[in-house]
Amino acid sequence: MNGGLWLLNALVLGIVCGACAFSVADWAVREHVGLLNVATMPTWLTVVAAIIALDLVSYGWHRANHRIGVLWRFHQVHHSDPTFTTSTGLRFHPGELLLSLPIRLGAVVLLGAPAAAVLAFEVVFTFANLVEHGDIDLPQRSERILGHLFVTPALHRRHHTRMGRARDTNFATVFSGWDRLFGTYTASDSTVAVDTGLPGLSQVTLAEALALPIHVRQ
Ligand SMILES: [Zn+2]
Ligand SMILES: [Zn+2]
Repeated sequence: MNGGLWLLNALVLGIVCGACAFSVADWAVREHVGLLNVATMPTWLTVVAAIIALDLVSYGWHRANHRIGVLWRFHQVHHSDPTFTTSTGLRFHPGELLLSLPIRLGAVVLLGAPAAAVLAFEVVFTFANLVEHGDIDLPQRSERILGHLFVTPALHRRHHTRMGRARDTNFATVFSGWDRLFGTYTASDSTVAVDTGLPGLSQVTLAEALALPIHVRQ
């Protein structure tokens, strides 16, 4: 099911976008468009700045997915996974990824991030996404230290809670600081047991998951 969605998404996005984020980044740098092209900065600083800024955009987009009804219709597919494993990180409705494209491309242009920085962000983001969905119970000391800067699996597992308002917290993917800064942080660690999934959506098939955004509840 999660693997099926991932394959479908790879196919759909490959057709619609391919490597369009990199082409857009190349264009922005060539045309000197975007914030990062205003000042002269060493490449490493540009890469770090782009990773931080694009992670903030991802935080905002994720928060909007929980706030705006039509976006939640797509995003609930991600939350409907009753289990919480690395493959949950691949479980997204293609509609959610397509809707996020203009936001992602717009952010790359606004920033004027070079293709290398976009690639670095994609690598860091993909790694963080897969790790934080892994049901990994880190040793408490390392978890506490890591959690000051990064989103740990326990922090994101709290976001996947079946019930309660914690689902509308812990939106960040790479840096946990965004949630602390914007007041959407719920502390958690590997000792906290979380019942994950969504009520009434424990057994959805691939076809049902794809139809969820247009499904009208009885
Ligand atoms: Zn979410
Ligand atoms: Zn998630």
